Amino acid sequence: MKQILFTILLVFSFSVQADDFKAHFINVGQADATLLEFSKGVVLIDVGGELHNIKPSRDSFNNYLSKFYERRTDLKKTIDVLIITHNHYDHISLITDLSKNYIIKRIITTKFKLTKEVEKAAKNEQIKLEFIDYKLMDSLMPKGYEVTLSGLVNAGSTIPKLVLYSGEVLIKTPQTINNTKFTASPFKDPNNNSIVSKLSYGKSSLLFTGDLEVEGMEYLSAKYHNNLSLFDVDFYHVGHHGAENGTTKEFLDIMSPKIALISAGDSTHRNGGSAWDHGHPRKLIVDLLNNQPSITKRNQTVRVHAYPEEEMNPEIIEIKKEIYCTCWTGSIVMSVDSNGKYIIQ
Ligand SMILES: [Zn+2]
Repeated sequence: MKQILFTILLVFSFSVQADDFKAHFINVGQADATLLEFSKGVVLIDVGGELHNIKPSRDSFNNYLSKFYERRTDLKKTIDVLIITHNHYDHISLITDLSKNYIIKRIITTKFKLTKEVEKAAKNEQIKLEFIDYKLMDSLMPKGYEVTLSGLVNAGSTIPKLVLYSGEVLIKTPQTINNTKFTASPFKDPNNNSIVSKLSYGKSSLLFTGDLEVEGMEYLSAKYHNNLSLFDVDFYHVGHHGAENGTTKEFLDIMSPKIALISAGDSTHRNGGSAWDHGHPRKLIVDLLNNQPSITKRNQTVRVHAYPEEEMNPEIIEIKKEIYCTCWTGSIVMSVDSNGKYIIQ
């Protein structure tokens, strides 16, 4: 009987394992790089490093990827899909390293303020850049642009579904979309032209909003006003590194996440472009997340830092919810199964 039970447990635990994927939030300082690891391939969302202090980011990123591919030799140093949410330094600056050391099969980004580094990487890899803009999004409304990932998992297992809902936006003159007024100036910033992507995996769901700011979130809500449930997810990769303008209470209620995770930089750095320089994550946003009823309570209170303003010393605050930051712990790995279970390691 014992033997049978053991066998059943073993089979069960293997089947759960086989149906997991992992999200690696790589510590690249005040920047973004998120690796989604599936059984047969990977997606990388952003490939940034910290402005004016690239070396620690570069070392951390290269070491992380080198260890990752040492473990996953079966993936043959290949990035199946690279999504660059927008063309800012802290989201693209390590693309040359990536392209030099690994094979990138596909790059999806926006044309808005496209950089030479991204164009060059695509040329080196002999692939065409794919651009996400308002024309494409409008033509696909409301279902979004699906990036097929069925080839990245073993046959018979859950198929991850990655859908892009927004990218380059065109607002050159004041306009009203579903009762919300928009002016041109906030959309001159690449942040508000960030690609928004949602990954669904069985019953699990994750949302990545890049560096979208308040106006970008309002644009998304106005465009999808009849389909806001599309953005109802379990996991929220907190917008714009936890900036004061990167998350609104309205959009947080639409998402109703159970877990929130911020990618932000080391609090000891004092260079321009550091977390201290920007004041990320902002105390206002960590408090907002901490008071969000949908976010799961932790068993124990945790003491973390957050900034009252930019270029000010961080404050120590207590959080009691499932909120994480690469700035508090370094790189974070989260296992996700197809039943809405998330384990942070
Ligand atoms: Zn950023």
